[in-house]
Amino acid sequence: MYNPKSKNATEFISHEEILYTLEYAKKNKSNKTLINEILDRAKDCKGLNHREAAVLLECDLEEENQKIKDLAFDIKQKIYGNRIVMFAPLYLSNYCVNGCIYCPYHYTNKHITRKKLTQEDIAREVIALQDMGHKRIAIETGEDPVNCPIDYVLESINTIYGIKHKNGAIRRVNVNIAATTVDNYRKLKEAGIGTYILFQETYHKENYERLHPTGPKHDYCYHTEAMDRAMEGGIDDVGLGVLFGLSPYRYDVVGLLMHAEHLETAMGVGPHTISVPRIRPADDIDPTKFSNAVPDDEFEKIVAVIRIAVPYTGMIVSTRESKKMRERLLKLGVTQISGASRTSVGGYCEPESEDENSAQFEVNDNRTLDEVINWLLELGYIPSFCTACYRVGRTGDRFMRLVKAGQIANCCQPNALLTLQEYLEDYASPDTKAKGEVVIANELQHIPNEKVRQLTITHLEEIKKGMRDFRF
Ligand code: SF4
Ligand code: SF4
Repeated sequence: MYNPKSKNATEFISHEEILYTLEYAKKNKSNKTLINEILDRAKDCKGLNHREAAVLLECDLEEENQKIKDLAFDIKQKIYGNRIVMFAPLYLSNYCVNGCIYCPYHYTNKHITRKKLTQEDIAREVIALQDMGHKRIAIETGEDPVNCPIDYVLESINTIYGIKHKNGAIRRVNVNIAATTVDNYRKLKEAGIGTYILFQETYHKENYERLHPTGPKHDYCYHTEAMDRAMEGGIDDVGLGVLFGLSPYRYDVVGLLMHAEHLETAMGVGPHTISVPRIRPADDIDPTKFSNAVPDDEFEKIVAVIRIAVPYTGMIVSTRESKKMRERLLKLGVTQISGASRTSVGGYCEPESEDENSAQFEVNDNRTLDEVINWLLELGYIPSFCTACYRVGRTGDRFMRLVKAGQIANCCQPNALLTLQEYLEDYASPDTKAKGEVVIANELQHIPNEKVRQLTITHLEEIKKGMRDFRF
């Protein structure tokens, strides 16, 4: 029985409700009147339920499909303007006791190089990330209670926050570790993490169990209910995600939106972010063996529909996607991207030798951070290194209230400009710096509040004189 308020995964992600929704969407895929009604309703940025979103995803009318993309673009502009938040992953350990058949870290893979960073290694990796200009990272580990216990993760977070190299600092550590207990989530909260991220991989229970044949991750309900436990442990900001390619994508998009509805209904606040990775080649993994691969055009539509359905949830695309694809997705709703990522353990300091390979997947965008920033500026975006909300306690429902009241623009826009100015002063190439100065000058006028704008101008000058870390 479908019940978004239930704490039981098979009730808030009801298989029957998803099948009914997909059937309803199929029946209405050419229902012009209904599709236009849904699009009209979504213009107020209040989002859509999973059934309405499924109809848009299934829509086969050319004109309406264009309207879906246009609306996604409008909503993105209205809420996020031209800002794109930057981050980088940091792989701490690739030991894993699970048997996920789509990931090279599965424990039966005997030829991948297993590594775990020491605290000294982590300090070196963090300095390398700071020297590029990163301020926000997501730590990643496999699941292994012996090689990678929670205490190791907590110690590593402490190390990361403690490194201050030149003008660098990691100001927000997001955490992507396996589903765990309320107690451990409480410890992560106390360690000062930003968002807790856990990909569902797929919401299709039968497929999920087949794709995770062994290890603790095999337990679908324990995994799917992890965000409830994280919130119970005091973590306000949680990040959902599906690995597209594992199950039919329509099923997973509906499941993902039902999960968001569940968090909103049962826990009082929806997901902070949604990630949209697609399966990539890796050691021991051939993506062509996964028959549910999503073609580019349909992937674009997924991003547009998610943007319309959950306007206030950040959307993340990693370097799994190419420069070209990232450019297409940025227009439709993506708000956060990684840059210069290394998906191997210890990859920022030392490139791996030919006989080593500890990477989780092959990256599809190999540019340096400066090249990515330069490209974003050229496209008219404001690359932002902002981490302000979590640092001033603007998380969970406090954050959502501000966003929904349209007030966040008075924080995001100035913070984006201030953190970009820091990047330009400390790390940018001359060409990037010149482009960045032009963007900052133009974008200042899009700060709605006059007082905030004047204060931003003052802080920009102070940054040029060597001061750092202003935030609204
Ligand atoms: S997806 Fe995560 S849990 Fe599964 S094998 Fe890879 S690292 Fe381990
Ligand atoms: S002000 Fe808050 S919402 Fe806006 S970019 Fe910064 S951290 Fe994100």
